[in-house]
Amino acid sequence: MGAEADKRCIVFLGPPGSGKGTQAEILAAEMEIPTISTGEMLRAAVSAGSELGERVEAVMASGALVDDDLMAEVVQARLEHDDTDGGFFLDGYPRTEIQAAHLDRILGEVGGRLGGVLFVTVPEEELVRRALARGRGDDRSEVIHERLRVYREQTAPLVAHYDSRGLLHRVAGHQAIEEVTDEIRRIVGALAA
Ligand code: ADP
Repeated sequence: MGAEADKRCIVFLGPPGSGKGTQAEILAAEMEIPTISTGEMLRAAVSAGSELGERVEAVMASGALVDDDLMAEVVQARLEHDDTDGGFFLDGYPRTEIQAAHLDRILGEVGGRLGGVLFVTVPEEELVRRALARGRGDDRSEVIHERLRVYREQTAPLVAHYDSRGLLHRVAGHQAIEEVTDEIRRIVGALAA
């Protein structure tokens, strides 16, 4: 780790189907930093049939959230890898107020810092339409509605939380992918300045 290293975390926050994962991937490839997606890590664990996968499979399939303490372990272990030392995106974490507190602690322990939170907004009817079109295993109609409900109840409060800390940046997600990327690129560029 050189003197220039800045383990800056940029969080992508938004409802399921907002396209935050897609955007994080695009920008991460451009900036040559990793995107850490908790949803992808958990799905990989389920596919691999690991102990973690067995613990989370049923919860994920129902649209509910995996336990906060278990998530903190998963995220901390991942952020200890030195591929995050030059900065990284976090997609899908934190998702609850407790997880936001856990993230602050984890970043302190791994020598990282929270650089900003990108909140990708999309109207709810568009979210449902996108989710049904995507057709992933946990994208059945009842599960989609459950995931949106869980989002409104547990994750949406993080918007005010990060806004009050001066970290929140709103991004209009209901535009062409490239336009959303342009908007995020401008925000991330201004953060670095
Ligand atoms: P999306 O991008 O569609 O919002 P994800 O791929 O991020 O969905 O997550 C899929 C599922 O994985 C969630 O519904 C939840 O069960 C589990 N999960 C992912 N991240 C977290 C988290 N931070 N806390 C708890 N559960 C999580």
